[in-house]
Amino acid sequence: MADIPVFDSHVHVFPDAIAARVTAQLGADGGVTPVYDGSRAGLEACMRRSGVTGALNCPIATRPEQTRSINDWAAANNRWPMPCLGTVHPDLPDAADEVRRVHALGLHGLKLHPEYQAFNPEEARLEPIWAVCEELGFPVVIHAGADIAFVPPFRSSPAGFRRLLGRYPRLRLVAAHFGGWRMWEEVDRELAGMPLWLDLAFVFGEIPDERLTALIRRHGVDRILFGSDAPWRDPAADLAALRRLPLKAHERERILWRNAADLFRIPELCVGRISGQA
Ligand SMILES: [Zn+2]
Repeated sequence: MADIPVFDSHVHVFPDAIAARVTAQLGADGGVTPVYDGSRAGLEACMRRSGVTGALNCPIATRPEQTRSINDWAAANNRWPMPCLGTVHPDLPDAADEVRRVHALGLHGLKLHPEYQAFNPEEARLEPIWAVCEELGFPVVIHAGADIAFVPPFRSSPAGFRRLLGRYPRLRLVAAHFGGWRMWEEVDRELAGMPLWLDLAFVFGEIPDERLTALIRRHGVDRILFGSDAPWRDPAADLAALRRLPLKAHERERILWRNAADLFRIPELCVGRISGQA
């Protein structure tokens, strides 16, 4: 059948030497059973059985001194079907320089996590990072809202992202977990229709299908990305859930591939977009 290709904009892979240990530990911390062992080979096998064509790895530096080695590893592993983002810890003294290095290494954007990296997006120490990403047109994927591995109060919110966009209007911001996990009323009020991208990681089953479909359209189907958060979620199940939503075929195609092709500079996404239209 002429199924369109699928790009998963939110997955996690770790270096082989630590993948199994880290994945088991993080899974236990979050109370979730990983669907693969956190390795690249594990991800690629998961993609094959799930019908996922390509997947964006989103690494996170939880300590400033890890930042460069994680980015070096990401750059060495940045090849289809697993293009990679880089990361930066906000307490790295020359964080903006490292963002420029991540960009120059050919990584496809930056991943940040307010909980694991202990920052509020509106803090002054984040300003150099936002400024350089805006200047470079470099996409930033940020964890948004609650997190299964942490307790409230959470450090990011839909209202905060709205204020941030007011200060950095050209920032290419992807707020993961639909703009604020388990903050759906606030997402609807503060972010729907704003010029940022929302991914669908950990969203299915949290919002009733009809309301989710309405929210997707209210925000604008051009700025919604399919993302699973694998290995913490099963991309096959999320893909089936997306296909159950009463969306039109062209809307699904945007969410599953074309929006990512427009946002991230990944050559294979542009090629796939053309063949996906056949
Ligand atoms: Zn994630």
